[in-house]
Amino acid sequence: MRKVFFKTFGCRTNQFDTQVMIANLKDFELVQSEELADIVVINSCTVTNGADSSVRNYINRLNKIDKKVLLAGCGALSQGKSLFEKDKVFGVLGHSNKEEINSLLKKDVEFFEVGNLEHIDSSVVSEFVGKSRAFIKIQEGCDFECSYCIIPSVRGKARSQSKDRILEQVKILSDNGFSEFILTGTNVGSFGKDINTTLASLIKDISKIRGVKRIRVGSLEPIQVTREFKELLGESFLEKHLHIAIQHSSNEMLKIMNRRNRFESDLELFSEISSKGFALGTDYIVGHPFESDEIWQEAILNLKKMPLTHIHQFTYSKRDSTPSAQMKNQVDGNIAKARVKELNEVINRKNIEFKRAIKNPLNILIESNKDGLFFGLDEYFNRVKVKSDRDLVGEWIKLNSFEIEGNLLYAKI
Ligand code: SF4
Repeated sequence: MRKVFFKTFGCRTNQFDTQVMIANLKDFELVQSEELADIVVINSCTVTNGADSSVRNYINRLNKIDKKVLLAGCGALSQGKSLFEKDKVFGVLGHSNKEEINSLLKKDVEFFEVGNLEHIDSSVVSEFVGKSRAFIKIQEGCDFECSYCIIPSVRGKARSQSKDRILEQVKILSDNGFSEFILTGTNVGSFGKDINTTLASLIKDISKIRGVKRIRVGSLEPIQVTREFKELLGESFLEKHLHIAIQHSSNEMLKIMNRRNRFESDLELFSEISSKGFALGTDYIVGHPFESDEIWQEAILNLKKMPLTHIHQFTYSKRDSTPSAQMKNQVDGNIAKARVKELNEVINRKNIEFKRAIKNPLNILIESNKDGLFFGLDEYFNRVKVKSDRDLVGEWIKLNSFEIEGNLLYAKI
């Protein structure tokens, strides 16, 4: 049997896509390094110019050790053609060709098949953390057109996985002992629009499956937190943490980014959810073109008003073929760095205040251990470290008291 190695670049969605290919591998042996492989399949990322060059560098390295290379993933659309024409890769396959990987690997003539952007994989793929937490991909693609983002043009419009298939998959996993489920996708909140259902209704149905204890939701857009979704906020099966991507807190910047959210409504939404005891995280881009000192001062003032507990900040990085890449007034890298630092300081303070104010017992699912210490997440998305003589991996534990230790909560039981 010929040996295949899969190299994955980029986000969690790409990791799922690699699993789809691996699940469809029949006549090849899967190996764990490029050195052991006859063929290397690259599941590429194209989110920034830097991501493209990492993929090219990797291909150059493979060409030097004479490996047969197939290029898949988002980069197949953005730079697949030029790499194919330069003879750097043997074959190029698009997102819709992933499930045909077994026959594509058998081809002995070069091929360029980037398929279409309407396809949704027939297999629901899950990824597991330890023995008890599973990620389920519920949709693909995005209908938004944020000016800095290439995703809609390489992953296509939003389309949902069938609800029945998702429920079937959750049922199988919960029968096998999984009790926490994380719903994920390119734009999770758009789930259901094309199949006449909603994310809230999917969550309710999942919660009814025996064995399901906690449901987490990937990143939502502010406008996707609908009235129906808000009705779930009091339910014990929903984690007490939501990640709602605002990307910026100055309206002028949000307009330039072609975002659909605005600061005032974001503040209202976050305040409402926070008043129900939720921890709130967000994505934030610093240093996008036109982020002047004036805009930044306004943004940071606004951000201080928001009840945020977690932030995933990105320093803007140019991506060709996006409107933002054409914009003048790019921001100096050192200025962006200083702004990221300021932003982190604001959110870290808020995070500690939030942790100090927790009064109720915490419910933690322990996922791993290292040197006699056990690690897991509580319902607020806090990482918790527990010292115990007992093996706690896979168990739910309740903590009545804890200490704050840097970014972690710590307890001894
Ligand atoms: S919501 Fe905006 S940033 Fe997110 S994938 Fe869609 S276009 Fe990109």
